[in-house]
Amino acid sequence: MAEGFLNGKTALVTGSTSGIGLGIAQALARHGARIVVNGFGDVDGARREIEALGVETLYQDADMSKVTQIEDMMANIARQWGGVDILVNNAGIQHVAPIEAFPVERWDAVIAINLSSAFHTTRLALPVMQDRNWGRIINVASVHGLVASVQKAAYVAAKHGIVGLTKVTALENATRDITCNAICPGWVLTPLVQKQVDAKAQALGLSNDEATRQLLGEKEPSMQFTTPAELGELAVFFCSDAAKNVRGVAWNMDGGWAAQ
Ligand code: NAD
Repeated sequence: MAEGFLNGKTALVTGSTSGIGLGIAQALARHGARIVVNGFGDVDGARREIEALGVETLYQDADMSKVTQIEDMMANIARQWGGVDILVNNAGIQHVAPIEAFPVERWDAVIAINLSSAFHTTRLALPVMQDRNWGRIINVASVHGLVASVQKAAYVAAKHGIVGLTKVTALENATRDITCNAICPGWVLTPLVQKQVDAKAQALGLSNDEATRQLLGEKEPSMQFTTPAELGELAVFFCSDAAKNVRGVAWNMDGGWAAQ
């Protein structure tokens, strides 16, 4: 990829204050894209890390479970920065419980944040992309968009759903220079997964290291976490000219998880 090949492009990365979203935002920024940051927590820290790469940031505090807040965010970006060229639908949450005990409110929240928000940002970003005949939409799904695990009904349903949405978005724009693809990580050691390590350590009386080893051992043959930086490089590739005919794929980076 030529240095600065994303200069002049605007990337919205939902949930970019932490973990995978922050890693993808940094990778896009390294190639020159200015970044709309979204998410909660250490907003200033995330913006500082991205701006240190020499690009501008714009912060939008939309709660991705709320349609009106997503609509306001997209209108603000259009007004202030003229629309979105690269849309990374990444914000996500997890809840773990068997179906019969799954809290209805958690089901609704997981579906809203992990799936419906991507529909809303996509429908609102596409008109500008279509006018410009250029756009890249990257949906951060999961290996759980390809295979299932117990106790993750809402998450697995949302991630399979976003893989489907990815394919439809790709097909509807297949004759334009607008692509849509999904990234399907296995385990990535972010706060979202650390909570699952902590739960395992507590439930089984294990140390953090032993719980981590067991978590990887159950699913991920490589016994290694994928990193946000590695996922960022895949997102950069999807934005490149070389990837302009990669359309509607669900690309796993999962240490062999789905190959089993
Ligand atoms: P994380 O908890 O580190 O980050 C989640 C981000 O989403 C944060 O910026 C958070 O503020 C934001 N967010 C959460 N709820 C939000 C809301 N209502 N509105 C706006 N922003 C909100 O988690 P992560 O592990 O980096 O996960 C990012 C994405 O990657 C998720 O979609 C997740 O499902 C997916 N994923 C993670 C893993 C993993 O192993 N960590 C594996 C596969 C897929």
